Amino acid sequence: MFLHDKKPLHTVKVDRPNPKFAAMFQEQLGGANGELKATMQYISQSFRVQDPEIKDMMLDIAAEELSHMEMVSMLITQLNGSELQGNQATVGEVQTHLLTGLAPGLINASGHPWTADYVNVTGDLVADLLSDIAAEMRAKVVYEYLYRQIDDKGVRDTIDFLLNREEAHNQLFRKALGKVAQTGSNRDFGVTEDSKLYFNLSTPGGQPFDLTDIHAPH
Ligand code: MN
Ligand code: MN
Repeated sequence: MFLHDKKPLHTVKVDRPNPKFAAMFQEQLGGANGELKATMQYISQSFRVQDPEIKDMMLDIAAEELSHMEMVSMLITQLNGSELQGNQATVGEVQTHLLTGLAPGLINASGHPWTADYVNVTGDLVADLLSDIAAEMRAKVVYEYLYRQIDDKGVRDTIDFLLNREEAHNQLFRKALGKVAQTGSNRDFGVTEDSKLYFNLSTPGGQPFDLTDIHAPH
């Protein structure tokens, strides 16, 4: 069950409207590394997780990601201002002015609709946690790129908060991975001699990459 708390996770207050930056920020709402993707990925993965601690953590993070989605949507709404100006719109912005009436749509910065194809679920906890760590890293990178391209202090404050929360999730998922590192696909696959071979195909050849320490004995 999810509850609706009327208080946002963190205050969102931009200094001034900026429709072009709103369009760029759509990437973190309806994009491949955005908040909706994070929410749906962690909820979807959680259903088959047996470890109660990791299952709760996944759902706690998923619920927080939904709050991030709310914050990103609030930010985009404020940046869109109150004036329809489709004839000024650039890449990704047109739908905001012609279809959604300045409401944040589930589209990325290029106007492409959100898709469940962004969500990675395998049913294998090791593979899923690695996807989650990578998702958090990518979300951080996109927030960092957005931060560099805006000087609005209110927007920067929101980005700073979200970027730091994604770092917290990154650390939590890494800790969970450490707990299950010798289970699932890490235990059942990659156990023959083939998994210890390195094909040195570079010409001229250098020092072959040493794989001997990578596979811990079971
Ligand atoms: Mn997030
Ligand atoms: Mn996150």
